[in-house]
Amino acid sequence: MRKYIPQMRPWFGDEEKDALVAYLESDGWMTEFLKTREFEAMIAAYVNASHVSVVANGTLSLSLALQALEVQHGDEVLVPDLTMVASANAVHAVGARPIFVDVDAANLCMDLHHAEALITDRTKAIMLVSLNGRSPDMAAFQELCACQGLALVEDAAQSLGSFHKGRHLGTFGVIGSFSFSAPKIITTGQGGCVVTDDEALAGKMRMIKDFGRTRSGVDHHEVMGYNYKFTDLQAVVGIEQMKRLSARVSRKKSIYRRYAENLEGVDGVQMVPTDLDEVAPWFIDVYVPDRDGLASHLAGQGIGTRVVYPPVHSQPAWSQPGSYPVSEDYSRRGLWLPSDSSLSDAEVDRVCGAIRAFFHV
Ligand SMILES: *Cc1c(COP(=O)(O)O)cnc(C)c1O
Repeated sequence: MRKYIPQMRPWFGDEEKDALVAYLESDGWMTEFLKTREFEAMIAAYVNASHVSVVANGTLSLSLALQALEVQHGDEVLVPDLTMVASANAVHAVGARPIFVDVDAANLCMDLHHAEALITDRTKAIMLVSLNGRSPDMAAFQELCACQGLALVEDAAQSLGSFHKGRHLGTFGVIGSFSFSAPKIITTGQGGCVVTDDEALAGKMRMIKDFGRTRSGVDHHEVMGYNYKFTDLQAVVGIEQMKRLSARVSRKKSIYRRYAENLEGVDGVQMVPTDLDEVAPWFIDVYVPDRDGLASHLAGQGIGTRVVYPPVHSQPAWSQPGSYPVSEDYSRRGLWLPSDSSLSDAEVDRVCGAIRAFFHV
């Protein structure tokens, strides 16, 4: 057992090392090429989407989706108030305005009825975040968007390996986005991707991420574009991570189950209902009255934690007025416990023992 149990750490093995050495010996150009196409094909097959484009990170993938949908200055995009700040900042990056929406306590995702009430003539899209792999009634959001003529964009950064009624998250919207940053379910250090079944949007996104070119290396710029490209060096790592994704997903589920069983009946520890047949929880999230007290108690026992995101509207960078009671409540009480897929059962038990001691049970 490790003396210090971190809240999260990426998991690399000899496979990544060997694949990187083999790539370097192959005299590749490092930038995205055949290995990247192979990585994209693996993601497409796993999530069951027709088109996948990987980009430098999971914030640019969101901006790329909005750019392809021509969301721009003067437009509004509904974004949940409880999410990683990147969801809102990607809207800002394209010049549009995020409208924060409170979340539903049942799944901590955007509340459908609040969303509906906030739609205006300026609303162009709904950015639905499947926080921690959980999802709301996706058909209801699809229907709302269809009725109101809005684009449904899914920020599924935390949801690789998570499904809704058997369908992979990220594929309900017209475009879905994933992240491969260091703490995510699989990582390439940095990285993200967009997925879509819409061929025209897929082609447009491929152009935008490469300076608006129709073909790499040809300096004809069909649309306004930028450089969001990936590298084959990262793809080599991503391919090895994808090969073991199913094993990681089942480990994530069994870790969550072990925590839930261990903490069952501890008064004061709340967990969000999670259907482990569909959800691969990214982080183990618990909601407790004295969150900071528990965090420092665990720190004293060599156990790392991380507090759940502050409500986005309250971040100094945003400081927007408004009342978002559910987001505020869960944010104040939320703590992420050690969650990496390489956590052993004994380590989970040690964390749970320390939590029980804090609550004197
Ligand atoms: C991680 C994350 C992002 C940002 O992804 P990066 O790859 O770090 O840019 C966006 N949205 C959510 C919900 C995330 O968890």
